[in-house]
Amino acid sequence: MGASALPIIIFSAIFGVVGIVLPIVAPKGPNRGWLCCYMAQMNPLIGPKLHQNTILIMAPLIIPKNATVKSQDINSKSQRLMLEHGLIRQAGNGTFYLLPLLQRSLQKAIDLIDRHMEAIGAQKMTLPLLTSAELWKKSGRLKANEGGTPTELLQTTDRHGKVQILGPTHEESITSLLAAIAPVTYRQFPLRLYQISTKFRDEMKPRFGLMRAKEFLMKDLYTFDVDREGCRDTYESVNEAYGRLFGEIGVPFVKVAGDCGTMGGSLSHEYHFPSEVGEDQLIRCTRCGLHSNAELFPAVSEQCKSCISSETVERQAGIEVAHAFILEERYTKPLGATCLAANGKPAPLQMGCYGIGVTRLLAASIEVLSSEKEIRWPAALAPYRVCLITPKAGSKEETQAVPWIGKLYNDLQTVPNCTGEVIVDDRTQLTIGKRLLDARKLGYPVIVIVGSKAISEEMFEVHNVTDGTEVNLSYGDTLTAVGEILASKSAKHQHSTVQNQCGNKAAQEVL
Ligand SMILES: [Zn+2]
Repeated sequence: MGASALPIIIFSAIFGVVGIVLPIVAPKGPNRGWLCCYMAQMNPLIGPKLHQNTILIMAPLIIPKNATVKSQDINSKSQRLMLEHGLIRQAGNGTFYLLPLLQRSLQKAIDLIDRHMEAIGAQKMTLPLLTSAELWKKSGRLKANEGGTPTELLQTTDRHGKVQILGPTHEESITSLLAAIAPVTYRQFPLRLYQISTKFRDEMKPRFGLMRAKEFLMKDLYTFDVDREGCRDTYESVNEAYGRLFGEIGVPFVKVAGDCGTMGGSLSHEYHFPSEVGEDQLIRCTRCGLHSNAELFPAVSEQCKSCISSETVERQAGIEVAHAFILEERYTKPLGATCLAANGKPAPLQMGCYGIGVTRLLAASIEVLSSEKEIRWPAALAPYRVCLITPKAGSKEETQAVPWIGKLYNDLQTVPNCTGEVIVDDRTQLTIGKRLLDARKLGYPVIVIVGSKAISEEMFEVHNVTDGTEVNLSYGDTLTAVGEILASKSAKHQHSTVQNQCGNKAAQEVL
């Protein structure tokens, strides 16, 4: 051992002691977990000793032992699981901290959406969060006398007395941008612009955690075409992209005819994850295939409004995760967004808008896939796909396991679907059993245990969390098995979707 190793040894010794002592002496309270885990991440005994690269070790688990969340505030399984397992923490009524593990899932959802939006030629941009109330008055969505009336619209008045809206959607804002550069030649269209940003809704009763919060992340795409035909082509193109996107996520979904409601416009479809806690009632006719939000049905009707059959109508609850609208000239006309048509005359642009509730999508996925005790993720959105569990501190295999963990961690990076997806649970003060339980609760799709058998027989315990199986495998077979489990999860995405085309007939006639 060269002299250059000496400072590392001294440093390691100090941090090693601190790392062991801190969990014991740290004050009990919400910050204890943070402190200890932070120290663990700083501890050079764990990091550089394993190998030269940065190793992803356990993210801080902020399990609220002294939870201030009252049980009566929890009204869905996903909300409880996400709070209990340190994915979110409530800040206020309807506002949440998204903690590091969930942030990773959120980023995956964003990347996935970006990819599917880019595939249909949509360009990403950022609109201001604040929209002048004047624009909402101009579009007719905010009546002049509604200035101070409480609604779900969150408003604020700036120091100049101007009312600003913290928007739930941004039709006025984007249309105003188009109007400011109008008229643009028809050759510039179709134009597809989207953003992924925080939206606001002043909920009377926020509930179900991230599913109905005051503040949420939403993808909103706005499309502009020169004529109705183009607008409808765009509508189909975006709906096809949504089908591919939800197919890839792999949570069973249904596409139903929706209500144009407060958005205005002429045609609308919604995407739902069927679930008991869903706040929408969906109606499906098994005879003619009509699939619709119950809002489109008269309140007491038990009859299919398309084929008039009454025995074939089924109801189910759904969580709305996405919505598509054809808006035509609903916003472009009042706000003056025109294009220069082929005949040289200005004509109002034909608009569509398409939302995906990104934070809601995560909560809804957990709601649908999880058991009462354990989180299950769509493989595409799991915060990490593989969790490595190391021997307990003080066990005789502890030091001998270290090279195996480093090697496994590095080699897994080259396995398909594994790059950047491996986390090492190095909380060695806990037993392997306890950490296995935690890993199952957090729903990492694959868990690999480097235990005593790794030392004595070079065998590794591989858990497929989704189907609940476990096997002991040699080193080479472990790498292969992890790849196969994750590949089968990717393949699963292809067939678990339920799609139903249903037109709002009255609306289609208008087009
Ligand atoms: Zn029918």
